[in-house]
Parts: sequence; structure tokens; C-alpha cells
Amino acid sequence: MIKNKTVNIIVEKEVCCGCGTCQPVCPVSCITMQLDEDGQYKPVIDMDICTNCGLCFKVCPNNEFNYKNNIKKPQEVFSGYSTNEELRYNAASGGLTTQLLIDGLNRNDFDAVVVVTGDKPAEFKATIVTTTNEILNAKASKYTQVSVNIVLKELEKNSYTKICYVGLPCHIRGLDKYLKVKKKLAEKIVMKFTLVCGQSLKHTVVDKQLKIIKVKKESLLRYSFRGEGWPGFQNVDSTLGNKKIAYTDKKAMGGLFASPLSGVDACLYCEDHYGSQADISFCDAWHLKNKENNNNGITSALCYSEKGVGLIEKYVGTEADVFIKKDDFANILSVQGHMKPTPSVAYLLNKKINNSRIDLKSELNISALSVIAAMVYTVSVRLLNLIGLNRLPLGLLSLSRGLKKILQIK
Ligand SMILES: Cc1cc2nc3c(=O)[nH]c(=O)nc-3n(C[C@H](O)[C@H](O)[C@H](O)COP(=O)(O)OP(=O)(O)OC[C@H]3O[C@@H](n4cnc5c(N)ncnc54)[C@H](O)[C@@H]3O)c2cc1C
Ligand code: SF4
Ligand code: SF4
Ligand code: SF4
Repeated sequence: MIKNKTVNIIVEKEVCCGCGTCQPVCPVSCITMQLDEDGQYKPVIDMDICTNCGLCFKVCPNNEFNYKNNIKKPQEVFSGYSTNEELRYNAASGGLTTQLLIDGLNRNDFDAVVVVTGDKPAEFKATIVTTTNEILNAKASKYTQVSVNIVLKELEKNSYTKICYVGLPCHIRGLDKYLKVKKKLAEKIVMKFTLVCGQSLKHTVVDKQLKIIKVKKESLLRYSFRGEGWPGFQNVDSTLGNKKIAYTDKKAMGGLFASPLSGVDACLYCEDHYGSQADISFCDAWHLKNKENNNNGITSALCYSEKGVGLIEKYVGTEADVFIKKDDFANILSVQGHMKPTPSVAYLLNKKINNSRIDLKSELNISALSVIAAMVYTVSVRLLNLIGLNRLPLGLLSLSRGLKKILQIK
């Protein structure tokens, strides 16, 4: 029997993060990204057309798991914000990401930028934009899963030569693999931005939230996750009016959305939440909560390349467009260090996908206890998911976090 070389194995083993990289690489265009009944984007292959060339598997960021880059230290860390008060007020954190994109375009460092646009989760998509207004309209985080890398085909076709790409860490990992196959496009992407990422949400979770807050999905006009100060508010506009939910409310990030059961399955195994393959990775400066950023957001920028450091250093001490100063990675880890992948889970996954092509067990020197804990963790999350319990009571949430900690015992 001929071996199936497609990404079907990634989907079957439930490690597909829905990044979309496999779709544009297919030479016979037989892959489409479709939402499954659980609200997660997955590639669906027309096997009558597929030639079994294996390219889709080759570019998949999750075709193997390498946790060696687990929490890689950035070259430099800065924290700051856009001095455009309106942008800062309505962005996710301090509006730094948007400001750097706008400035890069105005200075002609970039001639196009890839951002995520759309008024509501079903419409969120990666879009190539070339104007300040378009970048401004794309500000703030979209926490539901977006198959950003679908846009790569369009990017190849057009004539932009200085592109800044914004994607989550898994999108950037997929992009890097794609660029190894499509070398001409690699020359055109001059900067890669990413966002430190705890998890992406399944689309069904938003449907559940809408039910809780009594908004009919069909009546939804606009849905935003962040804005109006820091950490800010979710705004849900429907034909019946506006509902505002504090970001930290238990119906939003403070509970429902923070549950690991609300996240895309593959996020449980994420190899690199910090986006070390990008030039700059942006996150909320949670460590400055109640200090400098009371109700005004501050973005931290983890610079993983010389290029990234160079871009930010232009602003230090100038206060033109951006106020920024040096920070320390230890401060970021003190509040976000829980987003740690686990060697034991990596071991299990490599076994799952590659039948243990890499002997991670001996390489990482993991103990039997942590492998068992990894299994208990993933199986319990799956079981709770199966019975539809994706709104964990806080106690259970702490338990799951506790278990994750055990997983890190070597
Ligand atoms: C799914 C997700 C999970 C995150 N998890 C964490 C976390 O655990 N801890 C933390 O500190 N920060 C997290 N962030 C990052 C945080 O929410 C902010 O995006 C970051 O601090 C930058 O803020 P800003 O004000 O500088 O960005 P803004 O100026 O508001 O710009 C954000 C940019 O990101 C783009 N964007 C928005 N959503 C997406 C998406 N889904 N995929 C690709 N690009 C997108 C927008 O188009 C815009 O260009 C997450 C972001 C996302 C999207
Ligand atoms: S194996 Fe090749 S032809 Fe088949 S879906 Fe993947 S990329 Fe397309
Ligand atoms: S490339 Fe992305 S969307 Fe395609 S199978 Fe891999 S993880 Fe899933
Ligand atoms: S947690 Fe990892 S896999 Fe999940 S969306 Fe974020 S970067 Fe992608």
C-alpha cells in the first residue's frame, strides 16, 4: 500500500493548529481550510485530485515537535506604547505593534503589511494592506483561530518586495517552512512580527459566550475582544444594541476564554508560545500592572533578531510616535512563565506522529512520572471536552495548571 504523505496524519492525531500553511503550498489546489463541528479550522483534502506529493506535510509547523527552543531568551526586551493616545486606548495593549507597522510603511521600510482584519470572528482573515488607515482598522487582538497562512498564495502572486508579516508563533513557524520551499517569496518578507500566544480560541466558544450573554449569533454586527483602555473591554454589537464585557470578567478572558478547554487542541502542545522565530514578538506588559499601565496599555517587545533590535532602538529616547525603554525578560517570565511546553508532551507527540523518529526520551531525560502526568493532562482535557464542559470552574482550572506544572518535572 502507498504511504499517505499528506497532512491527514496531523489532523487525525489532533495536532493541527489550523495555521493554513498547507493550503497555499498544494500544487494542485486540493486543500481547503474548513471549520469542523468543534469550531476548529482543519485542512480538508480532495483525495481524487491529490497527487500524494507530500509538500503539505513538509511545510506543516506541527510535523515534528522540537521543544529545545522552549522559552528562548530574546536578544533584547523593551516595553512601551504608541504616543497616539487614540490608538493606544483602542489597541490590544499599548498599540506598539500597529504604530511600528504604520511607521515602517511611512518610512518605506515596508511596502505591504499582512494583518488580521474583520468585524466578527467568522470574518477574521489575514489581509495584505498598504495604507495607514487599513493598519489602524486591523488593530487589537483577534483571539479566535485564524488560518493566517492561507494568504501566502496571494502574497506570492503580487509584486510587493518589502513585506512585514504579522502572525502568531505557529504561523511564523509554518511561514519559515513555506519559505524554504518558495525561495522567491523569502526575499520579499523583510520583517516578521508575532504575538506571544497562550492559545487561540475555538469558534464554538464564542457561540457559547453569545448564548450566555443572550445575543443571537445571526444578529451580531461587530465583535471586538480588546480596546477602551487596558486591559480593556470586549464589545459585542448586535441589532439589539451593545454589550460590554470587561476583559477580566469570568465570561471573557477571566474565565471562559482562559480555560484550556476553550483553546484549539494543538495549543495544548504548542512548541513555542513566545514566537522566537520572529524578529519581534509582542505581548501585554502584565508585569507593569498597577504600576505604569493602570488603565493605559503597555506592550512588551521581545526582540529575537538584530533586525528586530535595530527597529526598536531607533525609537529609544526619542518619544516620536513611540515611548519605549529597555526591559528585562525575567519580568515577562515572572508573569507569563506558565506558558511552558513540556518535554514529556513532546515525547508523546513525536511518538504519535513520527513513531518516535527522534528519541526524545533519552535526549530530554524525562521521567516516567512526567510522561504519565502528560497523558493524564491531555486525556482529562479531551474527556472534559467530549462532555461539552468547556467552561471550567476556577478550581478545575487551577487543577489543570497544577498538572501542567507537574509535567515540567523532569
Ligand atoms: C490568539 C492570541 C493570543 C495571545 N496571547 C497572549 C498571552 O497569553 N499573553 C500576552 O501577553 N499577550 C498575548 N497576546 C498578544 C496581545 O493580545 C497583544 O496582541 C500584544 O500585546 C500586542 O499589543 P499591541 O497593542 O501592541 O497590538 P495592536 O497594536 O493592537 O496590534 C495587534 C496586531 O496583531 C494583529 N493580530 C490580531 N489578532 C491576530 C491573530 N489572531 N493572528 C495574527 N495577527 C493578529 C492585528 O492585525 C494587529 O496588526 C495574544 C494575541 C493573540 C492574537
Ligand atoms: S500531498 Fe501534495 S497534492 Fe496532496 S494535498 Fe498535499 S500538497 Fe496537495
Ligand atoms: S500546515 Fe497548519 S493547517 Fe495544515 S495540517 Fe499543519 S498545522 Fe494544520
Ligand atoms: S498557542 Fe501556539 S499553536 Fe496555539 S495558536 Fe498560539 S502559537 Fe499557535
